[in-house]
Amino acid sequence: MALELWQQRLKESVTTVDELAQRFGIDPEPLREVAARYPLKITPGYFDLIGAVGDPLWSQCVPDVRELQAGGYADPLAEAHYSPVPAIIHRYPDRVILLVSNNCAGYCRFCTRKRKVGSSDHAVSFREQREGIDYVAADERIRDVILSGGDPLILPDSVLEDLLVRIRAISHVEIIRIGSRVPVTLPERITPALCQILKKYTPLYLNTHFNHPRELTPASAAACALLADQGIVLGNQTVLLHGVNDDVATMIELLRGLLKIRVRPYYLHQMDLVEGTAHFRTPLQTGLDIIRALRGPVSGMACPHFVVDLPGGKGKVPLLPDGLRYRDGKTVITTSPGELVEYPDL
Ligand SMILES: *Cc1c(COP(=O)(O)O)cnc(C)c1O
Ligand code: SF4
Repeated sequence: MALELWQQRLKESVTTVDELAQRFGIDPEPLREVAARYPLKITPGYFDLIGAVGDPLWSQCVPDVRELQAGGYADPLAEAHYSPVPAIIHRYPDRVILLVSNNCAGYCRFCTRKRKVGSSDHAVSFREQREGIDYVAADERIRDVILSGGDPLILPDSVLEDLLVRIRAISHVEIIRIGSRVPVTLPERITPALCQILKKYTPLYLNTHFNHPRELTPASAAACALLADQGIVLGNQTVLLHGVNDDVATMIELLRGLLKIRVRPYYLHQMDLVEGTAHFRTPLQTGLDIIRALRGPVSGMACPHFVVDLPGGKGKVPLLPDGLRYRDGKTVITTSPGELVEYPDL
């Protein structure tokens, strides 16, 4: 069967350090070991967005020798512990993550599932997908199924639809979510045919993953428009990354740009304690400072929750700059610019 355009583009992805060396004139040798340990894949579209060595798009997708430094955890969220069957992560009673693939359109160097993505040892089999769906069917508490991976939209339409049909057939499942970075890395994947499929399984939420305003391209905007026009509710999860988006101006441009393409910012994630990603991590205070700077100047519509996913699988906790204080028996609230205002609390 002929490949679809997106499959063709995917095949043209950059997967070797030599291609990087050719285009950017860098020395490929130190990167070979890194790419052997954590796979390299950059779609042609994303590759074209890179402006220069070390820029915010480069650092998200190009291997870096610092990935080989010791420290952090292979599985920082103890997902293995919350995995009753291989394809399921069940940490909260009413919702599960269903891992449907361990491939992505491109591999992000900061990925929380760095230990798994793109590795043949962690491929998700057809049987594991089925086992995962049977698990959901057997637990009536589960009202929310989050398709994740890897990237679920890397699957062909027919496979994806088969999964959606089976999940929708479970009467206690109320909503389906899909987590996908393809609107950013492979916007060609968002075809009218795909949107027609997704629309049938409403309510369906798609959380995508933009990290930098330069990822907001005409192609990614068109992909989001196709989805939104079919009633798919779009959210965004950004990872706070040192040297990529850890400054207020960049974050504001990203968040406002997302609203313009009908994507509602949902989470700003503190970078998990993943092995090989320490160079991306920021102090917690950086995220808090950004959140404080947003409040007021930026619409609440554009403000994500800043969340830290605690080690050991203790769950996500939203962090807020300390707004509420008590002074001389009175309640005092800090405004966005830092003024202390007394509030007649009960
Ligand atoms: C983040 C997460 C969810 C979804 O949490 P929401 O806060 O509802 O978006 C579900 N399960 C696991 C294991 C998670 O890490
Ligand atoms: S697309 Fe998502 S799952 Fe895939 S490498 Fe990037 S962050 Fe990880």
